[in-house]
Amino acid sequence: MAEHLTIDEILDFVTMDNIDENTLSLIARVNSHILVCKECFELVNAIQLIQEEFERLQTSSDFRSFVSERYSNGRVSSSELQDPLF
Ligand SMILES: [Zn+2]
Repeated sequence: MAEHLTIDEILDFVTMDNIDENTLSLIARVNSHILVCKECFELVNAIQLIQEEFERLQTSSDFRSFVSERYSNGRVSSSELQDPLF
């Protein structure tokens, strides 16, 4: 199996707002990886949920630093993933 996605890759994926040559390869990498890796699939979903919550709350906290700190070592246990929000 290919290497796991990094937090930075997931953050770029979740926050991208336009599609160009650079983001296309990221989209391809993320999509092909989460098809075969449940762990990363759940991580992407969790981070997307957090981002939606940040947008909903229109918080002034920085989404990227929040996620980077929370998932600082890149991997989280599955028990943490079940409750990604606060
Ligand atoms: Zn993975």
